[in-house]
Amino acid sequence: MTYRSGFVGIVGRPNVGKSTILNYYLGEKIAIVSSKPQTTRQRILGVLTRPEAQVLFLDSPGLHKPEHVLGRYMVEVAKSVLEEADVIVAVIDGRVSLRPEDERVFDQTRQALEQRASSRQHRSALLAINKVDAVKKPKLLPLLKACAQQRLFDDCIPISALTGEQMPVLLDAIIAHLPEGPRWYDPEHHTDQPASFRISELIREQVLIATHQEVPHAVGVIVDQIEERPRVLAIHATILVERDGQKAIVIGREGAMMKQIGSAARQQIERLLGKKVHLGLWVKVAENWRDNERVLRQLGLFRYVSEGKDVTIQDHGNPE
Ligand code: GDP
Ligand code: MG
Repeated sequence: MTYRSGFVGIVGRPNVGKSTILNYYLGEKIAIVSSKPQTTRQRILGVLTRPEAQVLFLDSPGLHKPEHVLGRYMVEVAKSVLEEADVIVAVIDGRVSLRPEDERVFDQTRQALEQRASSRQHRSALLAINKVDAVKKPKLLPLLKACAQQRLFDDCIPISALTGEQMPVLLDAIIAHLPEGPRWYDPEHHTDQPASFRISELIREQVLIATHQEVPHAVGVIVDQIEERPRVLAIHATILVERDGQKAIVIGREGAMMKQIGSAARQQIERLLGKKVHLGLWVKVAENWRDNERVLRQLGLFRYVSEGKDVTIQDHGNPE
């Protein structure tokens, strides 16, 4: 039997369910998920080891029009995932008609395919039509027909990452298109994210769930300290926001919001680490941190863009 392995880039506009797909296949929360766009800010590796293949999923931030250094970084990361992938899985939301942002994703997929073709490396693209649990099946027919008529995708597969419907079909298609290759990672190894980054993400996820409008975008989380104490792990983290008003929202009346965020995040972290956790949270205002490269590095961003090289973003100015 040929063993297959390679990178599978999950790409698409924000909020179509890319991270939910990754988590479904890995059976654990590798990437945080929320109903707010631009939840994923980083390239996230999820390693799925099977008897016949090792699938190296790369979850990516949604391709969007960036407004900050952070946003430009996110778009760079998404592009690097397109470049690195052996199999591209472009994800769309099957509940709604195609948007210009989806078309842009298709264009970039096409470019990535052409690039590889010119270097004679094999690469394929699949279209995952997600969220079909919320669609009446006949409504999908025109989309499937249109997809079959163009030559970009090798396969167009309706799925639901929420219910798992057709997810094995997508996985089989992914594996069938992977190149021959070795088992790169130990099967126990599920991701390359440091524990501190996963902890900060679980805290940020709870802030995203609890807040609305511009607040989720303005939130960053830094884990300051992880301290082993008898029978408990003490974690101290800072939640960054951009304005006093946002700080007041995150803290809430008499600290009620903080309490809710802290307790939900603590439970998630305990589940991840399998240990009892004491979580201390601070909220700090850092104006325009999304344009501050130093802060972005503190947040664990600016890691591995195209094989470990840091991304250089020329324009550091505020685009306003
Ligand atoms: P991403 O920005 O593309 O990574 O999207 P997420 O994975 O963060 O998901 C965005 C939202 O879509 C979340 O609220 C998910 O629960 C929801 N979602 C993801 N997959 C499905 C699905 O198959 N069906 C439905 N109904 N919702 C989904
Ligand atoms: Mg995501």
